[in-house]
Amino acid sequence: MPAGETFDFIIVGAGSAGSVLANRLSACGRYRVLLLEAGPADRNPWIYIPVGYGRLFNDTRYNWRFKTVPQPGCHGREMIQPRGKVLGGSSSINGLIYIRGQAQDFDHWRQLGNVGWSFEDVLPYFQKAEDNERGADDLHGAGGPLAVSDTRDRHPLALAYIEAAHQCGFPRNDDFNGATQEGVGLYQTTMRDGLRWSAAKGYLKPARMRRNLKIVSDALTSRIIFDGRRARGIEYRTKGETHIASAGREVILSAGAFGSPQLLQISGVGPASLLQSLGIPVVADMPAVGDNLNDHYSARIALRCRVPTLNDTARSWHGKAAAGMRYALTRRGPLTTSAITAGLFMRAHPLSATPDAQCSLALFSTDSIGEELHAFSGVTGVCTLLRPESRGHVRIASADPAQAPAIHPNYLAAERDRDTLLSGVRTLRRIFGAPAMAPYIEAEIAPGPDCDSDDELIDFIRRRGGTTFHPSCTCRMGQDPQAVTDERLRVRGLAGLRVIDASIMPIVVSGNTNAATIMIGEKGADMVLEDAAQ
Ligand SMILES: Cc1cc2nc3c(=O)[nH]c(=O)nc-3n(C[C@H](O)[C@H](O)[C@H](O)COP(=O)(O)OP(=O)(O)OC[C@H]3O[C@@H](n4cnc5c(N)ncnc54)[C@H](O)[C@@H]3O)c2cc1C
Repeated sequence: MPAGETFDFIIVGAGSAGSVLANRLSACGRYRVLLLEAGPADRNPWIYIPVGYGRLFNDTRYNWRFKTVPQPGCHGREMIQPRGKVLGGSSSINGLIYIRGQAQDFDHWRQLGNVGWSFEDVLPYFQKAEDNERGADDLHGAGGPLAVSDTRDRHPLALAYIEAAHQCGFPRNDDFNGATQEGVGLYQTTMRDGLRWSAAKGYLKPARMRRNLKIVSDALTSRIIFDGRRARGIEYRTKGETHIASAGREVILSAGAFGSPQLLQISGVGPASLLQSLGIPVVADMPAVGDNLNDHYSARIALRCRVPTLNDTARSWHGKAAAGMRYALTRRGPLTTSAITAGLFMRAHPLSATPDAQCSLALFSTDSIGEELHAFSGVTGVCTLLRPESRGHVRIASADPAQAPAIHPNYLAAERDRDTLLSGVRTLRRIFGAPAMAPYIEAEIAPGPDCDSDDELIDFIRRRGGTTFHPSCTCRMGQDPQAVTDERLRVRGLAGLRVIDASIMPIVVSGNTNAATIMIGEKGADMVLEDAAQ
């Protein structure tokens, strides 16, 4: 039995979901809550300056910088998988886009048997979280912890992109989280007054001083401690020492789509053969832990522009100084640019009833994601596959919690995924070739006009595409015996243990995943408190 300090709830991971939980579970003052985060406190100013996602993308102080195993569908490449490792988790390093997904996504979750997860059920939690500067209405919330704002500086290229997509026959859409997602428009972002609004900023900051909430950063949770099939506590390492802490009520894993299944497996909950091969005593043989990995794959085309873009700002001292000065004085300008600015949600595959591709404009360009910006003015057209059929897995490669797990997203295994991306890339090309873009776009440089047959384009997509940073579904919620969690997010067959983060999604939402994960945190917190009150 664990000794050490005793809490009611222990939350592992202070990311999007963990930050929500720490706030909500400690709010009434009745429960003692421990929040453990492997990364440091979120003091680096680049976390708050929106364009800091570029700075933190390769910074191992705040980013796990995982890699996939060689991907057969992508010419055997080992591909980047950034994940936040800091208070706020991935919401502290992400691209700031606020998209919930489609109502049909959640209705589908419900159809799969997950009572309480239809769109009607989850909408109040999106609204509870939200502080939309446009105010509250039937679909939106105001006054919640998560600031959501319109783009303050409307770059002419973004406006031209919207006009060009319209010229290609797509409807305008002023609110992708409104009545319908379909159409083209500007994104709303998790920013306020020119500052990033991470989950830590929205939920942890106001709760940090509560006496019943203990937050320990730089603390890697190394295993869950079980008494039979009940979770009793955890073991964690900080400053070179190992500690244990007991949970009187529950241990809650919010370590993300890689971290949560890794911790379960390391603690003896996972495929028995894998665990035994690594010498880990089996607590529960659950082959599905770490399976069903969904991720959004993106194809990215690069274009040379006739007008300055972020490339110019970032690559000259003059550009940097001017942008820095403007930001310091007004909290506006290039430093507040989100990772993508304008976007089109469209049906790319003929069989899709709702948008299955998100075609976005990024105001910068690189040879490959995460690499140096081009030395010329450039933009990127990003086509993201919203409902991938390909499924992968994450499995520990070692019993050592400090070792990265083996991540296999199995990108582009399904023919429909390839066809959808091909159609989406062709749409991007139509948009960039439309009259409204003519004053701005000089030429497509990757893959370039010579790459045009279906086979050539699919080869380009395999060679140069990559993650959109939305891994999820590895502790899938469901009613079937293969599911890892039930509809109340309890780990099936075990007591005192839940998973509450992006890994419980049964199927990834058709959009960026931060808003939905925060919703999962809000709903999960309510369920934990309801059960504790019984
Ligand atoms: C580069 C990037 C760009 C993105 N852009 C967007 C975007 O624009 N819009 C959007 O909606 N979504 C975006 N996302 C995705 C979104 O941010 C994530 O889906 C969401 O934050 C996931 O939340 P989570 O709570 O599941 O996990 P996370 O937020 O990743 O939190 C997990 C936390 O657990 C910690 N942890 C893991 N293992 C342990 C352990 N053993 N012990 C202690 N702590 C541990 C981690 O350090 C981390 O802080 C992006 C993500 C990335 C990485």
